[in-house]
Amino acid sequence: MPELPEVETIRRQLAPHLEGRTLERVEILDPRWTRPVAPAEVSDQLRGQRVTNVGRSGKYLVWELEDETFLLAHLRMTGAFLFDPEVEPVHARVRIDLDDGHRLVYVDPRRFGTGHVIHGATARDEYLHARLGVEPMTPEFTADHLRAITRGRTAPIKSFILDQRRIAGVGNIYADEALFRARIHPLRPAGSLRGGQFEALRQAIDDSLEAGIEAKGATIDDFRHLDGAYGSFQDRFLVYGRAGQPCVRCGTTIRKLVVGGRGTYVCEHDQPRPRARRAG
Ligand SMILES: [Zn+2]
Repeated sequence: MPELPEVETIRRQLAPHLEGRTLERVEILDPRWTRPVAPAEVSDQLRGQRVTNVGRSGKYLVWELEDETFLLAHLRMTGAFLFDPEVEPVHARVRIDLDDGHRLVYVDPRRFGTGHVIHGATARDEYLHARLGVEPMTPEFTADHLRAITRGRTAPIKSFILDQRRIAGVGNIYADEALFRARIHPLRPAGSLRGGQFEALRQAIDDSLEAGIEAKGATIDDFRHLDGAYGSFQDRFLVYGRAGQPCVRCGTTIRKLVVGGRGTYVCEHDQPRPRARRAG
């Protein structure tokens, strides 16, 4: 599933092709993309509009069009944008023809991705604020903020990090990478972090995401770049997917656990397991 670094990679690739261009023709082939709104309604709202900016909020791509119209696209599990594909891709869900003759095709084998049109910056902000917590790699993402939002929380820190309404954009891969870097066990109750651990975790989340962006994302399943190429971060994982292999730091065998239903990789030497809470 694309996480923040994958979506940011797509944003950086899309922006130069889209900004300043007019959407001449928008063909929505799959009504699930716009559900519950009818595809014809969405294509009418997009057709003839000029794209002024391609932004990102958490895992949402935010296309800003003229007249404060916004297209919020979420890739979910397997969504990808392809620019000028040489052959018509399978699983094409949306085709967009630009006024310079180029074509953008949205493909999505599992069809969980969404595209919603929103009018007005206020409505956009309300939509995103209802769904997304603090954005990593911004001045608002601080150790103090982490301390405040984790206070009293008993959920495992990994589950907490994965909650998009707490921290935007971090998914299963980058959560494991960040906790490994911060030397915090994924099962630690979120509210049990202490002292320097907040700053260590903040730094580790930013560093993991930045490393992912640097490598143009990780391709585990279907994530693809605009030109169909794959990301390379999967070759640089510190802990994710490395069960049975030695820890890059201490040589201890990496273990795979399940936390909140998600496969989770940990070095239990560097990331000490929390002690079981005493009864009574
Ligand atoms: Zn280790």
